[in-house]
Amino acid sequence: MIVSRRSFAAVAASGLLVAQSAHAAPQLGNPDNPPQGPEAIKGNPHSSNDPGPENKALASQFPSSEMPPSTDHGDMPNFWFPFANATKRVQDGGWARQVTKNELPVAKSLAGVDMYLTAGGVRELHWHLPAEWSFVLYGKARITGFDQDGRSFVQDVSAGDLWNFPSGIPHSIQGLDPDGTEFLLVFDDGGFSEFSTLLTTNWMAHTPVEVLAKNFKLPASAFDPIPMHELYIFQAPVPGALSADKQAALGPQGATPESFSYSLLKQEPDFKSPDGEVRIVDSKKFFIASTIAAAHVIVHPGAMRELHWHPNADEWQYYIAGKGRMGVFSGAENVRTKDFQAGDVGYIPRSMGHYIENTGNTDLVFLEVFNSSYYSSISFAQWLSHLPPELVKAHFNFSDGTIAALSKQDAKVVGT
Ligand code: MN
Ligand code: MN
Repeated sequence: MIVSRRSFAAVAASGLLVAQSAHAAPQLGNPDNPPQGPEAIKGNPHSSNDPGPENKALASQFPSSEMPPSTDHGDMPNFWFPFANATKRVQDGGWARQVTKNELPVAKSLAGVDMYLTAGGVRELHWHLPAEWSFVLYGKARITGFDQDGRSFVQDVSAGDLWNFPSGIPHSIQGLDPDGTEFLLVFDDGGFSEFSTLLTTNWMAHTPVEVLAKNFKLPASAFDPIPMHELYIFQAPVPGALSADKQAALGPQGATPESFSYSLLKQEPDFKSPDGEVRIVDSKKFFIASTIAAAHVIVHPGAMRELHWHPNADEWQYYIAGKGRMGVFSGAENVRTKDFQAGDVGYIPRSMGHYIENTGNTDLVFLEVFNSSYYSSISFAQWLSHLPPELVKAHFNFSDGTIAALSKQDAKVVGT
């Protein structure tokens, strides 16, 4: 009878193997046969040789794929894609690239865009069906919005701020001095393409000029100068003072009562310890973000975002700084570990267990983004500490001391 580490507790509990329980100390390595990974080849290291062709630059970045931990097992959809391998659409004034379910098929409920605009560079006036949630990665931008009650919105944002434009709300983005802005956009639809938004230039160019004249109560000649193709991104002069733009945009209905922007990094951390910091933002704090919730996570070297899952939504991740590895558990014996670094996208389907470990010697910083009005996560350790101890012992053969040491808190980031 072959007894794996995983099935041992259940068999032991049945009384069949009580005599062997003294030998049940957990071992490193895959508990399932045949053994896999570094533990399995200790006696024959040649087993991991790779003499054929290889993209060495790429392979060197993926130690967890080259030699996965011995606990990895089974199969799983790919949950990693780097923006570095997403084609840039480069125009005069900036560029954009996207990771949608075309690039990352598992990412069905969220898609992302990385965009740079020069100082003065404009992402043209537009709107779209999905809501847009954004985090400013670099520099400064001026954003505009407009609501269904005729109220205007103009605001400047800088690195660490975010914005949210709900479905159908028209908006624009423009880079500011000294070097424009780079930002991440996340949409609450994995199939959404940034390159198919409703652009005002397209609509104008594809509307009969007499209809435009009637609509805007202008002579047809007023439309002689309009572009006959979309602009999407274009260079314009750097705008002047924010106060002047705010005033000029103001109509009789006033400004939007709720801001479309939010200063996430100026917020006090919701969780802070020697291991890291977590800032959560959802519709409880940022009212306008009714379909997208997020957390900004800092994991110090040596620490990790603890084993957890999200009961309410898939998680779309963007890695801002540092290096880490994520282990994902999808059920049965399917577990996979992947390496991530700044600029990469990760995706974890709803309720799959995962952890993210800092594998570098600088802070690992990433965003967790959810297609939901609220942030929700369940800590494995905290759950085990909120159960009858005998029930937990019957599963894991823990001692009383181990049970007592389990944290009653959802620490989020652990390690020391
Ligand atoms: Mn947009
Ligand atoms: Mn998570």
